[in-house]
Amino acid sequence: MTFIVLTLFPELCAAVLGESILGRAADKGILHTDIRGIRQYSTDRHRRVDDYPFGGGGGMLMTPQPLKAAVDAVTADYGHRPHTIYLSPKGRVFSQAVARELLAYDELLFLCGHYEGVDQRILDTVVDEELSLGDFVLTGGELPALCIIDAVARMVPGVLAGAESYENESIYSGLLEYPQYTRPAVFEGMEVPEVLRNGNHGEIARWQREQSLIVTAQRRPDLLAAAALTPQEKDMLRQRGLWPGLPREEV
Ligand code: SAM
Repeated sequence: MTFIVLTLFPELCAAVLGESILGRAADKGILHTDIRGIRQYSTDRHRRVDDYPFGGGGGMLMTPQPLKAAVDAVTADYGHRPHTIYLSPKGRVFSQAVARELLAYDELLFLCGHYEGVDQRILDTVVDEELSLGDFVLTGGELPALCIIDAVARMVPGVLAGAESYENESIYSGLLEYPQYTRPAVFEGMEVPEVLRNGNHGEIARWQREQSLIVTAQRRPDLLAAAALTPQEKDMLRQRGLWPGLPREEV
């Protein structure tokens, strides 16, 4: 899968995508990244990429010319315009479900805004969708683009050791993950639960499922409402005063 990023800060993006699990996946040829500085596409003699917004308002806007030229260059290089995402607080809120949708594309093109954003005509003509990382405002689209790439890339076959590495995780499974422990078995007087050390895989799976349900009921009862629970599991939560899920503020 190929992730193409149009940004004013190519070194920042390259540094993040070149490290750790994603960096190793790129070295193995499982992932490809194509990070392009938008400024190189500016025809302005000072390579300007921003200007004052018509109608006033504080701050600067990214001008359409370098953005359109950058997208055109990508389109020419790939033979088509890849699915194009603009990062924006006005966009659809990103989630694991959206990450799974994006996994269907061979290439994704991310357009990172800066300043007060970009000229609307770019959004109207070359952007397929706008995605937001959440209800807060950042200074640029680079961090959201990198988060989205990370979330999608780790589901590409071969990037992690196996699908079970992410399928059991919080959110992906529809529940929050159970607590996990590693060595030593006793740390500053705190013991790892006995059930995890007895080697009985059936008991371990039951304990993990129960803990997952408890932590989800306590922290995200909204997720629990959508999960498939057995009558016994509902009873277990009921006995703990956790079923039906309490509103978050009461937990
Ligand atoms: N004026 C814009 C508005 O009110 O919607 C906000 C611009 S923001 C200061 C600068 C850039 O950061 C945006 O163009 C966008 O690319 C990125 N950005 C900021 N917050 C974001 C968020 N929550 N999700 C995705 N991108 C975001």
